[in-house]
Amino acid sequence: MPIRQLSETMINQIAAGEVIERPASVVKELVENALDAGASRVEVVTAGGGLNLIRVTDDGSGIPEQELALAIARHCTSKLADNIHDIRSLGFRGEALPSIGSVSRLSVRSRTAAGDAAAEIAIEGGRVSAVKPAAANRGTTVEVRDLFFATPARLKFMKGERAESSATSDVVKRIAIAFPAVRFTLAGSDRSTLELPATDDSTEGSLRRVAQVMGAEFPDNSIAIDASRDGVHLTGHVSIPSFTRANALQQYAYVNGRPVRDKLIAGAIRGAFADVLPRDRHAVTVLFLTLDPATVDVNVHPAKADVRFRDPGLVRGLIVGAIREALANAGIRAATSGAAGMM
Ligand code: ADP
Ligand code: MG
Repeated sequence: MPIRQLSETMINQIAAGEVIERPASVVKELVENALDAGASRVEVVTAGGGLNLIRVTDDGSGIPEQELALAIARHCTSKLADNIHDIRSLGFRGEALPSIGSVSRLSVRSRTAAGDAAAEIAIEGGRVSAVKPAAANRGTTVEVRDLFFATPARLKFMKGERAESSATSDVVKRIAIAFPAVRFTLAGSDRSTLELPATDDSTEGSLRRVAQVMGAEFPDNSIAIDASRDGVHLTGHVSIPSFTRANALQQYAYVNGRPVRDKLIAGAIRGAFADVLPRDRHAVTVLFLTLDPATVDVNVHPAKADVRFRDPGLVRGLIVGAIREALANAGIRAATSGAAGMM
């Protein structure tokens, strides 16, 4: 076969293979877009675990009618000017909407504050339809139906409604922790319903949001972290050693407001607790790292869950030092010689 240029739809489906793994990935991308648009309310509705329907509605800035076609076109973004080293938004790749639209039936309905009416565009398995007038309040509604209908091979890997709904709920919770002033609701056809009223961006507001997500017992069983070193700031809460889990799933970490799953951070948390926890127990933690965007690379993976720090030793040292110091200040020492001896 001769070499030829792939079609736009094929290119988008290949990108979707990386970015859109399951319904929860769609929810993540759409909720991130809502937050980048400055929404104060984000509403997620799903049916069939998200495979039949995902609808995300926000009250953010909206998309001007004349930009709707660009919003669903590949490599089109309003978030990146010329500097890949200064990323302050959750999105920047301009890939989510075209990727989703290449494997599902997607519609985007939007209205800006300046616009006197809403408009809508649709894309089905990569086929784009004309922009039409629509009725809507200010903000954006993105609806995704029949996810992966255009890529049946991916559809076969879905785990069933319960598992997909619970992955979606995790995604919403994870991101909601970083945006306490935003109200989130999630409604599914099963028990995955979630309602997180807005609190505020203060330390107390942030802790109240954490409690909404992690349970009301967390604040009473945690200590505050607040430390800085060489321009890197660390805040958040970690559980006391009597409040632990059998796995590390309840360790939430954020870098400049972006939820990350980072090995360095996980390792630092483990190191900080090494003397006070047995090896098979894990602290519950919520940690926010704030640093100059130029000193962290978020463009490591298409789903942006990985980051690379310019100075990993600094970040690790800050986390370990801050947690150990907070534990010591709270009067918490190595629990038993047995626990320490298990290391
Ligand atoms: P990215 O978020 O990386 O820019 P997307 O494909 O997710 O790429 O979105 C493309 C563009 O569409 C965004 O840059 C933004 O301008 C616009 N957009 C998408 N969703 C929304 C939304 N909910 N509110 C306002 N604008 C949006
Ligand atoms: Mg995006």
